Amino acid sequence: MNVYNTMTREKEELKVNNNKIKLFVCGPTVYDYSHIGHARTYISFDVIVRYLKHEGYSVFYLQNITDVDDKIIKRANENGENPLELAHRFEKEYIEDMALLNVNNVNFYARATEHMDEIINQIQDLIDKDFAYDTPTGVYFNVDKFEEFGKLSNRNLDDLQSNVRVQTDINKRDSKDFALWKKQDEEPFWDSPWGKGRPGWHIEDTAITESYFGPQYDIHGGGLDLIFPHHDAEIAQMEAASGKSPLVQHWMHTGFLNVRGEKMSKSLGNFITIKELLKLFSPEVYRFFVLSTHYRSPIDFSEEILKQAENSLKRIQNTGKHVLDKYCEDNLPEEDNTCVVDELNNFRTNFFDAMNNDFNTPIALSSLFDFTHLLNKSLNNNEISKNTLSLIIDTLKEIESILGFSLIAEESTGSDLSDDLLNIITDVRQELRSKKEWDLADKIRDDLASLDISLEDK
Ligand code: AMP
Repeated sequence: MNVYNTMTREKEELKVNNNKIKLFVCGPTVYDYSHIGHARTYISFDVIVRYLKHEGYSVFYLQNITDVDDKIIKRANENGENPLELAHRFEKEYIEDMALLNVNNVNFYARATEHMDEIINQIQDLIDKDFAYDTPTGVYFNVDKFEEFGKLSNRNLDDLQSNVRVQTDINKRDSKDFALWKKQDEEPFWDSPWGKGRPGWHIEDTAITESYFGPQYDIHGGGLDLIFPHHDAEIAQMEAASGKSPLVQHWMHTGFLNVRGEKMSKSLGNFITIKELLKLFSPEVYRFFVLSTHYRSPIDFSEEILKQAENSLKRIQNTGKHVLDKYCEDNLPEEDNTCVVDELNNFRTNFFDAMNNDFNTPIALSSLFDFTHLLNKSLNNNEISKNTLSLIIDTLKEIESILGFSLIAEESTGSDLSDDLLNIITDVRQELRSKKEWDLADKIRDDLASLDISLEDK
């Protein structure tokens, strides 16, 4: 299986020991509802994990939750709310949103605030090894001491300008140095050998990954925006502390979900929350939409494109339903009168080749389209035997478990079931009318009317 590695800028054979994969993906900073840009990243990694598991890897998928951060504190102050309560309120919303989107492969969510001892120990280790220093305002990582700083992003040290998460401070030896511990005695704070305060953003991740995975692990993921400075800082911290390199074998980054060419983000205010989107489209449609683009490429969001995705998904699901319906029919041919088994095998080869080539879901989906197109013809002509239909159903179920949306549409089975039930009820009512049992027939009509279903007798 080939996976693109941001570190080498190349696709590489996936290298892991004993088929066991330790995967860490940066989780959200929980100060607001999650938006569909976040969902793009987490759906992508969900499918990557599903596929790795399908291929026989045992994956431990760890995510952190940034539940202490300047943005959280700012929002809490605006709301007059306790920062930790606010963070945990939005963490709950995030986990609910992920469940709605069928993103359900994270093994453990690790809150920063529950790993203060590990964070403090790692900072102490960096001070002891002379990679960090204590000042009146905080403890800082001495970027110049780590010669390879920026090796992931290939960016120059001078690019490490102060940004929202890295405050400038005259106490720093160099403006490029970033905070490991910010001293302060306003809530929320924790005690440390350097006084009251709270951790910087980058250190929480390496403290968490070190405590669950050790100093080196297999895959680290996140959105493209995290490469610099966040992931470069993680490399510097952990490789400096452990003396071991590389921190991870494979770096994977997702492209942005954009709105009119601009990254969807909370700070730009151009976001649609997952909850808002799910009022308009089903979670399956959003997953299908996300997977129609390769995980590293940008996606341009518009309702129009989502509507197209909805129609495309419906077409595939209708074929899935057609296969199931056909399978239940009695008049099937004993032998296939078509080369559908070859087509099924071709489809499987194309689908899995695409997934093995850096999880290329758009190519995998287009092979599914091609197959369903051919399949429809054979289904309409009643050319497929029961055994082959059973093979097709098994394959569709297998693909379904990788993509995380239904192909042999349970949803449409649900709505068809109500259609079928309604047919039975109207047939019975018709019988009653023919027997002139008007009271009972009227009662059925009135009861249906109370469910907003109107029957017209013609
Ligand atoms: P944050 O809470 O901002 O740290 O974001 C959590 C994760 O979502 C990170 O991996 C981000 O890179 C990712 N993310 C945020 N916005 C977008 C977007 N518009 N498109 C794709 N991923 C995003």
